[in-house]
Amino acid sequence: MSTPARPCAELLREVALIACGRREGKTRSCRSCARKAPGLLNIATTGALDTLAAAICGNLSSACQDCRSKAAVIISETSDAPCAA
Ligand SMILES: [Zn+2]
Ligand SMILES: [Zn+2]
Repeated sequence: MSTPARPCAELLREVALIACGRREGKTRSCRSCARKAPGLLNIATTGALDTLAAAICGNLSSACQDCRSKAAVIISETSDAPCAA
């Protein structure tokens, strides 16, 4: 039995914070990013960078560079910390 490194709730908070824009001194995402986090985490576990970036950006056809890099961070952070809901 292997236990995930971080609990689900914490991972979700991390995903929300990255999507919202992580910076020094900021510990919480806004409410709307927190609400998007479960969906973003779902996409992240499939590894679909483009889809994830578009979901963060809110633009279904193409995401901006900023959101693409956020998506890459989320995928790398969630791939080594699997979370079985
Ligand atoms: Zn936000
Ligand atoms: Zn964007």
